[in-house]
Amino acid sequence: MRVFNFAAGPAMLPTEVLEQVGEELLDWHGGGMSVMEISHRSKAFVGLAQEAESDLRELMGIPSSYRVLFLQGGASGQFSFIPMNIATADSTADYVNTGVWSKKAIGEAKRYLKVNVAADCAASNYTTTPTQDELKLTPGAAYVHYTPNETIGGVEFPYVPATGDVPLVADMSSTILSRPVDVPAFGLIYAGAQKNIGPSGLTVVIVRDDLVGKARPGTPQVFDYKAMADDGSMLNTPPTFGWYIAGLVFKWLKRNGGLAAMAERNRAKASLLYSAIDASGFYANPVAPVARSWMNVPFTLSRPELDKTFLAEAAKAGLTNLEGHRSVGGMRASIYNAMPLAGVQALVDFMGDFARRNG
Ligand SMILES: *Cc1c(COP(=O)(O)O)cnc(C)c1O
Repeated sequence: MRVFNFAAGPAMLPTEVLEQVGEELLDWHGGGMSVMEISHRSKAFVGLAQEAESDLRELMGIPSSYRVLFLQGGASGQFSFIPMNIATADSTADYVNTGVWSKKAIGEAKRYLKVNVAADCAASNYTTTPTQDELKLTPGAAYVHYTPNETIGGVEFPYVPATGDVPLVADMSSTILSRPVDVPAFGLIYAGAQKNIGPSGLTVVIVRDDLVGKARPGTPQVFDYKAMADDGSMLNTPPTFGWYIAGLVFKWLKRNGGLAAMAERNRAKASLLYSAIDASGFYANPVAPVARSWMNVPFTLSRPELDKTFLAEAAKAGLTNLEGHRSVGGMRASIYNAMPLAGVQALVDFMGDFARRNG
């Protein structure tokens, strides 16, 4: 039986997509082989790859002045590959620190250029985002990096920072495809696939043309945006199975109303869960309401000694992977696109019942 899986990543995929994968596993498109077993250079696979890219372009409204790359190395790889590709060693980049993932991005970037921390939300214990006025941006910076959604803290920017002529770089790993996005506001968008796109092993990079072709000497070819863009992201063997599944997820999104429809669904799911937490008197979420994530909802029990019981009973009810990140404890419900409203409703019902029995 399939459960409602609240894992933060790798995360739940749409059941319809997995069913199609199952049906096609032994014989993809009549070739008598799995898509995993064919050459990435074959006409069939190149067609699949191009279709996935054009579907993603359509879904996100990506202008033709941007390249879409399907890479490896995860979002964490991009923490290094971004400075290597778009900035010189003596330049300064602005980084906004809103929690665990931005901190990791900063740590890695410091090895490649000068980092100015444009804002740091430490004073709030990373439970909010800075306002535009609080960003201390460096004139002439190589770029401004921020994390629109902090997957661990459950903190999300309610706005897109304005950076003038300085390219804005966004780690959208846990929020990409969750709602419409104004791509032209960004110089570069990147995301590991395993939250809201597909299986792990694939990293999507959407980069404006003028930022392509500036890699430092010594940048590995497979992580050089220009080398990869020129070769359709196939300078070497790409993660073909992940690319295939990402393509199926893009089709699923298109069938289900695209990103505007996802935004409505996701807003409804998040609002149902936060309302239940706030009204309970038993559960609490520490994040400033304006910065609450639609995708990752951390919460604590007023009696933390019951955490293990909560998790065990939830799992028995078919609600799994609710334990919080090891660095923060408590609970976390990740409710990406693939989580239906019915899953959040089941969680809210269970939480209400648990609180009545234990409050
Ligand atoms: C999961 C995540 C990462 C790390 O992704 P990897 O693919 O494991 O490197 C980075 N940033 C954010 C915001 C994430 O959610």
